[in-house]
Amino acid sequence: MQNTQDSPVTPSRAPSMEQLPANCNILLLNIGKMVKDSDSYIREHPLLCSGCSATCSKLNQINDSKTWTCVFCAAENPLSNDNIFKIREEGDELYSGDPLLENEYSFGNQSMIIFCIDISGSMSVTTELSQDQSNDYNIVYKSRMEAVKSALDQTLDILHKQHCEKRVALVTFSDQVKLYGDGLKEPLVLQDTELLDPDHLKSQGEDQPLPRPLSETLHALKEKIHCLEESGATALGPAALVSIAIASKSPGSKVIICTDGRANTDLGNLEDISEEYAYQSSKLYYSNLGDLALQHSVVVSVVTIEGTNCRLPELGQLADKTGGKVNIVHPLKLADEFQSILEEDIIATNVKLKVFLPLTMYFLYEGDQQSVLEKSFGSVTSDTVLSTEFNIYSSKIKGLLNTYKNIDV
Ligand SMILES: [Zn+2]
Repeated sequence: MQNTQDSPVTPSRAPSMEQLPANCNILLLNIGKMVKDSDSYIREHPLLCSGCSATCSKLNQINDSKTWTCVFCAAENPLSNDNIFKIREEGDELYSGDPLLENEYSFGNQSMIIFCIDISGSMSVTTELSQDQSNDYNIVYKSRMEAVKSALDQTLDILHKQHCEKRVALVTFSDQVKLYGDGLKEPLVLQDTELLDPDHLKSQGEDQPLPRPLSETLHALKEKIHCLEESGATALGPAALVSIAIASKSPGSKVIICTDGRANTDLGNLEDISEEYAYQSSKLYYSNLGDLALQHSVVVSVVTIEGTNCRLPELGQLADKTGGKVNIVHPLKLADEFQSILEEDIIATNVKLKVFLPLTMYFLYEGDQQSVLEKSFGSVTSDTVLSTEFNIYSSKIKGLLNTYKNIDV
């Protein structure tokens, strides 16, 4: 056990310790694997500790076949059913608190993919395509808008080939926000003062019908994408809110925001924010959007185009909170990026985690430095992990060393 950090409790003449070359007080939990393993046998009715609500497992001691002692908080609990100790196995033990919840793993085909696409004026900036510098006549230029359109076109074709049951919707933003949905109906246009009212934007998003599967909408969507033209300002804040609101009806949905510029309309403005107050309010706006998405297990990814000046620390919160990706990509690599976002399958939604440490230890960078960590993950993929650092209370070291001094570690 390493103790190099200041702990919340003042040390009481703790024994001097040799500095270790690496920090081994790290908890790495593969949440994706836990969800996958839960397809196998899950035991029902866990015994919960009366002191801290941790689950009784093979780590616990049975005292006299009438009680068990919690390894985390040392509370002694009655043993109503000792079957739990008769089937001890190697490896992890999985319990289901409520067997009815098992059905939630099959959230089925209702989940959506929302492309939230920047079509503001700056999307007309061009990028040189040809690598051949020797001949000026060979150099071809492509605008960001054209690059996004062809990336969307390719991505839809691949999705259609591999998962034609997917439900895809399109939202664009400039100085207006246009909700094309699945492309089969006339788009809903939100503009002017509508873009200043978060409640209005949210309800407009929530009122959108569920998109039809891509097998029925591919051509309509491609046509809408083909006709997109760039103009005006960047109402990214309102468009992100509307897109998350549309997706919020189906847990496990993905929102992909593709932009080349700073948000520069009132709600969620990230340009010309010289006043600290305005900046903090915009930062809070995106943080709250991330919370809204997390609450509904919506994964938000942010793709920005290379050579632009997006405010990634603020926008990135959306992805950080929801388990999405943030990336800056070359205009010609957009299709690859969209595909890498889409190929990560969501294997569970509304995932909440509670991790217990013994009361002598605490989590270092998680909230109030407590022994119990509670965290919401929303949607998880097979790659989702929790990695966090823990430490031991300085005041408890002496007692622990005394307890374990006769044990070879
Ligand atoms: Zn306990």
